[in-house]
Amino acid sequence: MFAEIEVKEPIEKIFDDWDFLNDQVLKHFSTFKVAGHNIYGLRRRLIDSTGMNDPKKGNISRFLELGPKGISEGHQNPLDLRVTTAGTPHRVMHNFGYWHINDKDELYLPIPGRSPEELGYYVILMGLPKGKETDSFAWYCEDCSTLLYDHVIDTGTIGLAGFWKGEREAVNTYNGSLKLRTCPECGHVNPLGYCWNKAKDTPAEAEARLHW
Ligand SMILES: [Zn+2]
Repeated sequence: MFAEIEVKEPIEKIFDDWDFLNDQVLKHFSTFKVAGHNIYGLRRRLIDSTGMNDPKKGNISRFLELGPKGISEGHQNPLDLRVTTAGTPHRVMHNFGYWHINDKDELYLPIPGRSPEELGYYVILMGLPKGKETDSFAWYCEDCSTLLYDHVIDTGTIGLAGFWKGEREAVNTYNGSLKLRTCPECGHVNPLGYCWNKAKDTPAEAEARLHW
């Protein structure tokens, strides 16, 4: 990890006290970064009794998982360690507009700031996909949970760099087809998808982000 991340301090100074949450280190993880066998994400967030608050997206505490018993909803509270197990379709309301399915467990930990006004830290950790492991961007009918579209990318071979490109392609394909968004079972027309990075939203996608 030291070889991949540059900080200004001499290595002797930080070697015994590698501080992920140091501002100089943190910025390297503001999206996701591969280090060794893992992928890390570190974000500064206002984390309080209302949950997780993103400066641009608002409250992003509500998460959904699709399991054998259907869709379950949870709320990401301060210091609640959350684990989404490999293979579980999951999404976070207003944060990314698709169901993410991958072959690695994902771990999330929101650490509040020292005072109600101070930004805290949101820590995300997951294994780096290897070999035939994949990531998938999927959409299910919001009325009846029928699978509408599943866009799979070979993250194990193309690496993390292919993830964001695949995400945009998946959203473009889904949004570009009224047929894909129309449920073959119940006929419901589902809202547009959107990417994780809000800066990529088209006006129509920004509207969809407010909805789901
Ligand atoms: Zn449906």
